[in-house]
Amino acid sequence: MKRVDLHIHSHASDGQLSPAAVVRAAVTGRLDVISLTDHDTAAGLREAMDAAAGQPLAFVPGVELSSMEDGNEIHVLGYFVDPDAASLRAHEAHAGGRREERMRGMVRKLQAQGVGVEMDDVLRIAGPEAASLGRPHLARALQQGGHTRSVGEAFDLYLKDGGSAFVPTEFPTVRNAIDTIHDAGGVAVWAHPDLEVFERQVNTFAEWGLDGIECFRPNTPPVESMLFDRVARDLGLFRTGGSDWHGPHRGKLGDWAVRGDEVRALLESRGIPA
Ligand code: AMP
Ligand code: ZN
Ligand code: FE
Ligand code: FE
Repeated sequence: MKRVDLHIHSHASDGQLSPAAVVRAAVTGRLDVISLTDHDTAAGLREAMDAAAGQPLAFVPGVELSSMEDGNEIHVLGYFVDPDAASLRAHEAHAGGRREERMRGMVRKLQAQGVGVEMDDVLRIAGPEAASLGRPHLARALQQGGHTRSVGEAFDLYLKDGGSAFVPTEFPTVRNAIDTIHDAGGVAVWAHPDLEVFERQVNTFAEWGLDGIECFRPNTPPVESMLFDRVARDLGLFRTGGSDWHGPHRGKLGDWAVRGDEVRALLESRGIPA
């Protein structure tokens, strides 16, 4: 049985490892199929594809686009995208700028509360390869600067949605994210749906061209996975799964995997044996 993980981040966004190191970790973790799905950027895909060539593993080029609907942030995974597609480039430029502006806003809010963190600390921690700045970078800056004891505490005290230093980002609509992925030749999948939003919106998103639902994730209550799975089947959508791994700080890549048969339709649609 194939071991698959279709949701992984690298330091091209807020993950800790380089794309090549992610591929090596996946081989070590005995995964057979992986996708790299960095937030709002395809910048790591070439490096990962090169690293995967000749390895005993199939690589699916991916991306995780942030979008907004009705005040909710919705993440849309794109699989089998062309890393050089103009639509992705445009999304990257837009979202990258918004994320940087928003990061400056969060740093200012922290400073106003007497927390001595600087934008330069965040940029240093994100590293030169980060095409997409996210809250985990700021959380690490807070921890390393001794302002919080842990990344989790940084979220709890300041950065969680609605937290005292939280700034929302203006992202494109879900419909726009789906179109961006389709224009890049990809398949659009709703990442980690929120149950309540899912029940309200799934039919609409499907009308807009959504192709799949991320049904299988670590720590998702089985009843939720089963609901996503059933609705995906009813609507004729792909079912996918992934760990949302961000680096070795939270366990080894490959410790969790989805079975090939659970994501067979998506893989076989592009000629990858499941
Ligand atoms: P952003 O894209 O900047 O809004 O940051 C979202 C990322 O922050 C998610 O992908 C998670 O990796 C991380 N995150 C969100 N909430 C928490 C939390 N409470 N504790 C740790 N990490 C979190
Ligand atoms: Zn992330
Ligand atoms: Fe996400
Ligand atoms: Fe993710």
